[in-house]
Amino acid sequence: MSKKHINTAFDVIVIGAGPAGYSSAIRCAQLGLKTACIDNWHNKNGKGNLGGTYLNAGCVASIALLESAKIYQSITHKLKTHGLQAEAVTLDIALMMQRKNNIVDALSKQIADSFATYKIDCIKAEAKLLNERRVEITPIDQSAVAILEAKHIILASGSSPIDSPCTPIDNEFIIDSTMALNLDAVPKRLAIIGAGVIGLELASIWNRLGAETILLEAQDTFLSLTDQQIALEAYRIYTEQGLELRLGTRVISAKKGNKKVTVEYQDNDGTHALRVDKLIVASGRKPNSENLASAEADLLLDENGYVHVDENCRTNLPGVYAIGDLTLLGPMIAHKGIEEGLFVAEQIGGRHNPINYDLLPSVIFTEPEIAWVGQSEQALRAMGESIKIGTYSLNATARAQATGKTEGMVKIIAHAETDALLGVHIIGTQASEMIAEAVLAMEFSASSEDLARTIHAHPTLAKALHGAAIALKNKT
Ligand code: NAD
Repeated sequence: MSKKHINTAFDVIVIGAGPAGYSSAIRCAQLGLKTACIDNWHNKNGKGNLGGTYLNAGCVASIALLESAKIYQSITHKLKTHGLQAEAVTLDIALMMQRKNNIVDALSKQIADSFATYKIDCIKAEAKLLNERRVEITPIDQSAVAILEAKHIILASGSSPIDSPCTPIDNEFIIDSTMALNLDAVPKRLAIIGAGVIGLELASIWNRLGAETILLEAQDTFLSLTDQQIALEAYRIYTEQGLELRLGTRVISAKKGNKKVTVEYQDNDGTHALRVDKLIVASGRKPNSENLASAEADLLLDENGYVHVDENCRTNLPGVYAIGDLTLLGPMIAHKGIEEGLFVAEQIGGRHNPINYDLLPSVIFTEPEIAWVGQSEQALRAMGESIKIGTYSLNATARAQATGKTEGMVKIIAHAETDALLGVHIIGTQASEMIAEAVLAMEFSASSEDLARTIHAHPTLAKALHGAAIALKNKT
């Protein structure tokens, strides 16, 4: 393959066009920097699509399918209570997937349009860092390899599912989370390894569409990083919805045969086998750093492949930054990547607006949703903090009653003496939207009394947040 030297030098090259990469490239260009963004995502037909995992095979694809699944379930199970009746409801998975793909394509095109507006060179290729100034690119169509140069390089190549040799992905019976968003039929019996964020989000889709769904989770504690009162409530609701959650269950092997998968797992009672039609492996993600840099580049990684960075997202190579899922600076969530993308672009542009990692909201897009910001009750108690807690059930709000989505609660934790907000935890419909108010309040160092004294429109779901703050105020 020929190597040619492209004379065009850039101010910034961004590797990866997921949320971290595309937001960074756009901000760099807005700040007047000559920017290129290189991305290797492509579909079966070799067509490149900007947006990374988050858009093509993650959050957006997942919430698009969940919306279809919720409608299907409402029509098949909940219409009668509204005095409505529908007959012969059919499920067209191909059309459902097409709708999801159309949404993904439209959002991907928006990114491409922004790149065009800001004159960002968008290169569909595999990129490899050669040193702190040079990047080698191999176009997706395998045409000539080229070398690009830039004053600054931003690594944003994201993450991919961890594959274990015990549960080898065959893309037919044993599949990963990407494939699980592209099935052509509803499996009759489905097992998912991992009741983490991805496992739960996928379970919420396929269970609603009719799959008997079993989650196999190695940990004894359900959603161990989530506030445990909320996690307990989630466990109860998911189980009532029909999800089978087997905790303390470590999968040790999976074998296909006779168009089924036999999953072998261990728990306190010994070793067991489970036969299912499909197995989804959702046991975690790893950073995409394997072929990101040549050995000569000397990019420092940790033993798990995360790129080593300082608090300003700078790697050990001068002028080279790493953002998003590639680093351990925060959790693998899209909005963390976006904020880091903007932060690094602004640093290069001579500004310094650091990120408040303590106030990154977390969301699990199931139905009901789970969302939180700040510390959990168990973490605060472990730190010996003096705290007070206010809770409010969604059931007590008129809006939840009117919509029939009454499950869940809001929990506010404040400092017992200063009343400063320390954590807000929500389980309920639209929790992902409600949490924004709590993030803003905490960003402005509000007390729980500030929330209680803020007028909330009535009747809204946000009244549950207000209610939890008032419950706290009434305690003082
Ligand atoms: P995770 O680490 O959240 O969950 C994986 C689970 O699999 C763990 O609980 C682990 O104990 C379990 N597990 C691992 N091996 C197992 C085995 N052999 N048998 C049984 N259980 C096993 O990982 P994930 O759900 O794959 O998500 C990866 C990352 O992506 C996370 O950081 C997550 O926050 C992020 N993500 C976020 C969102 C969102 O913000 N809504 C959506 C998708 C992914």
